[in-house]
Amino acid sequence: MTVQGNSFEAVFGRPAALVADAPGRVNLIGEHTDYNGGYVLPTAIPQKTRVEVAPREDGLIRIATMSVRGGTQLVYRAGEESRRGLWLDYVQGVTAVLRGRGVAVPGFDARITSTVPLGSGLSSSASLLVALARALRAMLGLSIDDVEIARIAHAAEHDFVGAPVGTMDQMAASLADENTALLIDTRTLAFERIPLPAEAELLIVNSGVTHQHASGGYKTRRAECERAAAALGVPQLRDADEAAEQRIASLPAPLDRRARHVVTENARVLAAVAALRAGDLGRLGELFDASHRSMRDDFEVSVPAVDDLVESARAQPDVFGARLTGGGFGGSIVALVKRGCAARVGQAVVEAYAHAPNRRATVLVGGPVS
Ligand code: ADP
Ligand code: MG
Repeated sequence: MTVQGNSFEAVFGRPAALVADAPGRVNLIGEHTDYNGGYVLPTAIPQKTRVEVAPREDGLIRIATMSVRGGTQLVYRAGEESRRGLWLDYVQGVTAVLRGRGVAVPGFDARITSTVPLGSGLSSSASLLVALARALRAMLGLSIDDVEIARIAHAAEHDFVGAPVGTMDQMAASLADENTALLIDTRTLAFERIPLPAEAELLIVNSGVTHQHASGGYKTRRAECERAAAALGVPQLRDADEAAEQRIASLPAPLDRRARHVVTENARVLAAVAALRAGDLGRLGELFDASHRSMRDDFEVSVPAVDDLVESARAQPDVFGARLTGGGFGGSIVALVKRGCAARVGQAVVEAYAHAPNRRATVLVGGPVS
């Protein structure tokens, strides 16, 4: 059903009882390390998903989103969640997981709005899951901490929606803020907040390239990492360290390159944390560049269009470093830029990119309006 009007009251005929939100995220460094039990370093972006809710007595759950087809509303009943292959699955996933944990989820009305672009790699999905879980925590007075909120959101996306995702996105949506990077040990979910330097800002540019084979490529890489770990005799590649360099080099191709990426990328996350703590932006930029080369040459998840974006960002003055962010096979780049310069660099990068036919890049973070 199409939603008429814009406010919660216009949609549901009564005011919202409360509102919660959660941000999208970008991963600064540590790519394809999460399913190898390693480290990641995401941060929150300014864009957020917001969920307004009000409880109902009759067990109905009515959800309106303003983000799909200009506004639409779907209904289900508490306790009757079933996967439909639609955006509503993210909502049903949260209520199903809460019920599975013994929470008596009542009916409610909810209205979702979001400034996180859907499906652009900035994790609109986790921001929706976490915002809704926060709204229900507040509405029901649940004593659940933020790591638990991330676990619930992860279970909703992984087990109910059926997306084979790690825990980074939900941890970032639940625990990250814009002024700190969130170091996460994906094996234990131990985390630490590292302040971001005031002299730098982030630029995120979407290449507009979405690869049809992204999910197939992701599965292949995961399987290759498992085979490499088995060949090295370790439970996960996280357990191989740089001292295993020679043994990694003797693995059959392409497992040697795959393992080298994961092991060196994991080390780069910790080196990036050290650089952040030392306020060494030059070093942090070098690590961004090295991470990109490793994803391009060893893990082979970049594409020429994304390589061009990275190169043109790096060619600009006031850029410390740039890299592909996210799973790859297209997607976005993140650049570390001197504060105050992101809008100019973003414009230059978008213009240079448009010189090749059929290429249109979009600044997602760091543009004049964000
Ligand atoms: P990403 O998380 O990178 O944005 P995903 O494919 O993981 O991309 O998640 C996008 C999906 O999440 C959307 O197709 C939709 O089903 C759901 N979603 C995210 N935000 C919203 C929203 N505001 N309203 C409704 N559904 C949403
Ligand atoms: Mg997602």
